[in-house]
Amino acid sequence: MTIKEKIEALRTELREHNHRYYVLDTPTISDFEFDMKLKELQALEEQNPEFMDATSPTVRVGGAVTKNFETVVHEERMYSLDNSYSKEELLDWEKRVLRILGNSEVSFTCELKYDGASISLTYENGELLRGVTRGDGFQGDDVTANIRTIKSVPLRLQGDFPPKFHIRAEIVLPLDGFDKMNQERISNGEDPYMNPRNTAAGSLKLQDSSLVAERPLECLLYGITGKNLNFSTQYEMLSKAKEWGFKVPEAAKLCKSTSEVMEFVEYWDTERHNLPYETDGVVVKVNSYAQQEELGYTAKAPRWALAYKFKAERATTLLKEITYQVGRTGAITPVANLEPVLLAGTTVKRASLHNADQIAKLDIREGDTVYVEKGGEIIPKIIGVDLSNRPVQSSATVYIKYCPECGTELNRKAGEAQHFCPNETGCPPQITGRIQHFISRKAMDIEGLGSETVELLFKEGLITNYADLYTLTKEQLMPLERMAEKSAENLINGVAASINIPFERVLFGLGIRYVGETVAKKLAKAYKNIDALMAATTTELLSVDEIGDRIAESVVNFFKEEKNIEIIDRLKRYGLQFSLTEEQLEGQTEILKGQTFVVSGVFEKVGRAELKKYIEDNGGKVSTSISSKTSYVVAGANMGPSKKEKADKLGIAIISEDDFLNMIQ
Ligand code: AMP
Ligand code: ZN
Repeated sequence: MTIKEKIEALRTELREHNHRYYVLDTPTISDFEFDMKLKELQALEEQNPEFMDATSPTVRVGGAVTKNFETVVHEERMYSLDNSYSKEELLDWEKRVLRILGNSEVSFTCELKYDGASISLTYENGELLRGVTRGDGFQGDDVTANIRTIKSVPLRLQGDFPPKFHIRAEIVLPLDGFDKMNQERISNGEDPYMNPRNTAAGSLKLQDSSLVAERPLECLLYGITGKNLNFSTQYEMLSKAKEWGFKVPEAAKLCKSTSEVMEFVEYWDTERHNLPYETDGVVVKVNSYAQQEELGYTAKAPRWALAYKFKAERATTLLKEITYQVGRTGAITPVANLEPVLLAGTTVKRASLHNADQIAKLDIREGDTVYVEKGGEIIPKIIGVDLSNRPVQSSATVYIKYCPECGTELNRKAGEAQHFCPNETGCPPQITGRIQHFISRKAMDIEGLGSETVELLFKEGLITNYADLYTLTKEQLMPLERMAEKSAENLINGVAASINIPFERVLFGLGIRYVGETVAKKLAKAYKNIDALMAATTTELLSVDEIGDRIAESVVNFFKEEKNIEIIDRLKRYGLQFSLTEEQLEGQTEILKGQTFVVSGVFEKVGRAELKKYIEDNGGKVSTSISSKTSYVVAGANMGPSKKEKADKLGIAIISEDDFLNMIQ
């Protein structure tokens, strides 16, 4: 046997044992024997570096250090999931699914919702190429070096896998491993970690991969994306992936109806406490990929999946005081300050009370003993009052009438739940809030400038709006508290660098009410520059995909304000990006302006996602259901029969893929 053969043989053997131990849970050799073989391989590899291989079992011990995780754009977006908490919501979802699919038969794959950090793993020719965190869904951090150390992530696959695909999986930290880590921390005099989920997520971002290797992380597979996959349902995929070497939890079940889904939910609602890791619900997925494609996605989540959340954990505690926060839009949020209580692994001190109605509805009062629950959200909520514990001298909560920050009388628009402080230009948290939003990571992402510095700069009278940031000088900054020469320079450089931030993020940064990240992207794409957007009427705005009355009105109102125009003019002069770049404009036309398309069926020349992109790039609008507003239905093979019927009934033209491609040629 040559050295090379010897190395290969050891690798194959160790891979096999790894898989048996970490994926199948059926080891056939002792840990000691395994370690000896691994050491032997390590020694051989060290002596013969020419045979190094990134999929060798020795990389599991880690060692690579990553200083800065590179940002990687996901080839396929990583979506979130819509949540539901009741059978009624599940049935509503099923109804929606059936309506879009035209009442065809649907079966569901039910899986548990693993509570960890999501990851996308790219495999090419059966080898792990890259592991990227979810990030914001569009792009995440390349954490490959750390992922390689997780033993249940196969570095090399077996069997008949597709040439290239992305695995979607959850990295979890099993409870006993988590407890062990904490015991060790406590005996070292360190604070214990809060909960397994945050620790799993934090582990992926450790710079030293050998530290990651020491943590008992596991990788649980739940999804796959890619082209030319040789299976057509979610359930089939799960069993295939298991054959290739992934860890796929056993619980998954194929259900023929929502009543079977409910049985699954009810069973696991209690049984989950016997699992080695935390779960917070069930994910119900339409089983057929063809139907999944037909259903598509909303701005945030697939229409073909639903997370059914288990009932949250609940705690009882004392409400000490109700205070009020003023947001950047002037919205007032009442906050419950609680006697600290442990809930689902974290200490809870505050809970949002949402608005005046919520307080009145639950009759929440200072001094009450309240029930606190933690659902899917990060901020816990109060769901009720223990009246038997109410102090005798208690009186109903009187909601504040004046802004706690600036004293202005609050107002509340008809139909809105929130009170607002109307003093936009004079109310400190609104002024600093707008600037803080402008500099935030998803907007202008200004390096060297944080929220506290914004408050300081405002307090010192150096800035009153975000345009003022661009005229700050070193001389102004230097005398400030805790401002060294270096940090003043960093701040000024960070501000200067932000003029290259693309238009859609500048638009988001302006802080127009209801214009979040996604809406800003849609508006930038539809109008291409700020002048066109400023000239748009409410009616015009409404024709843009996903822009409704509330958003359209808010945009128009924003640009009506003289002072907003002034600030934008200043920002233009400072060189900020107020139009899409040449690159972004490439391939974009107005050919389909004013036309709405519904896409249905399977296509030959282009994928469905591509087709939709063509429609949008050429100024058209994509809609999921046929109505009198539909201009064309682009139909591929297997168009849903009910869709065809509806189109015929409304007299809407059904065109082929080729017809469509000709339209935009
Ligand atoms: P959320 O972050 O609450 O919107 O939920 C979406 C996340 O649930 C995904 O990004 C996954 O990381 C996670 N997840 C856990 N288990 C599953 C599963 N079985 N199927 C799909 N997603 C899952
Ligand atoms: Zn105010």
